[in-house]
Amino acid sequence: MTTTAVNPLLLLTAAVRRVERLSPSFVRIRFGGEGFEHLGPEGPTLDQRVKLLIPTPGHVVPRLDPAAWYAAWLALPAEERGVVRTYTARAVEGEGDERQLVVDFVLHGSVGPAAAGPAATWAEEARVGDEIGLLAPRRGHERSFGGIEFAPADARRLVLVADETAVPALASIAEALPADADGVVVVEVPDATDFLDVPFPPGIEAHWIARGDRPRGTQTVATLRECLHLDTLGRRVEDQPSPVRAGDLDDDVWETALYSSSGDDVAGAPDEAAHLGPDDTYAWVAGDSDTVKACRRLLVGEGGMPRHQVAFMGYWKQGRAS
Ligand SMILES: Cc1cc2nc3c(=O)[nH]c(=O)nc-3n(C[C@H](O)[C@H](O)[C@H](O)COP(=O)(O)OP(=O)(O)OC[C@H]3O[C@@H](n4cnc5c(N)ncnc54)[C@H](O)[C@@H]3O)c2cc1C
Repeated sequence: MTTTAVNPLLLLTAAVRRVERLSPSFVRIRFGGEGFEHLGPEGPTLDQRVKLLIPTPGHVVPRLDPAAWYAAWLALPAEERGVVRTYTARAVEGEGDERQLVVDFVLHGSVGPAAAGPAATWAEEARVGDEIGLLAPRRGHERSFGGIEFAPADARRLVLVADETAVPALASIAEALPADADGVVVVEVPDATDFLDVPFPPGIEAHWIARGDRPRGTQTVATLRECLHLDTLGRRVEDQPSPVRAGDLDDDVWETALYSSSGDDVAGAPDEAAHLGPDDTYAWVAGDSDTVKACRRLLVGEGGMPRHQVAFMGYWKQGRAS
């Protein structure tokens, strides 16, 4: 008897079912369509990443073979290819024909000086019925697909840090936390009107920061420092050099217990990470690469946290298209 291996990657045409403006910087888009009954993950979405294939304006979503989609996509004429971007499955809801994917897009071109990219521009202009491509886990095969980094094991004390691009992941994580979780959350968004209603357990101390005109990430690092009482190490917070320096990083910043973009072995990982106990602290830091790197310096460098207890993820880099 022969068995056919099931591809854990689902490649779908995703049609916009609903567009909802959550705040000046966030637009929530619900997607559905043929094949969505197979969409994973089955359990909590946490920080599950998916890939969106945004077609070039005026072109339809290219039909690609899921088994070799990337090579097929690259082989398309440049003007038909569009772009591929990584987003978070904020939620997967419903069953059968009604199953939908929820994605919260940051409209980074409409707020502040940054130029909008193709994905943010598409989201800003999206209408019901518009179509994009979606690469996502097949239901029941999410472990093989991967893409969930939040892995605190049994650690109850959490340090969660996010910028606006990581708010969707943070919100999904918050919904899945046990009621007795404690710790701190530091989240920086462009404006106070972007503070979203995220339900953290009562033991979590959440700090929402409105960036306004201040340099990106600076308030995040200062707040994190205060929360961890690192300002008592002898240097006052205001005496510190600016912690976030644009360009002061490797191109990619990504380190979890399973993988480090630096190529380093993360001491003890993944075995020790799997055994984090209730008395351990686990940190999850996601957002723009400069801020993530500054937080890494703070937590692992000054704070002395073991590397296998932290996940640092650069979701995007200023001045560079993804
Ligand atoms: C695992 C993962 C999950 C992610 N989840 C989400 C999510 O749920 N929602 C979401 O909105 N984003 C999310 N992102 C970030 C998103 O992929 C990037 O912001 C991406 O660059 C957007 O593509 P674009 O085509 O709009 O801009 P690009 O063409 O990639 O970039 C164009 C210009 O815009 C700048 N830029 C990109 N993003 C921003 C921003 N947010 N603010 C200011 N300038 C920016 C770039 O530096 C560049 O100069 C995620 C990224 C990763 C890796």
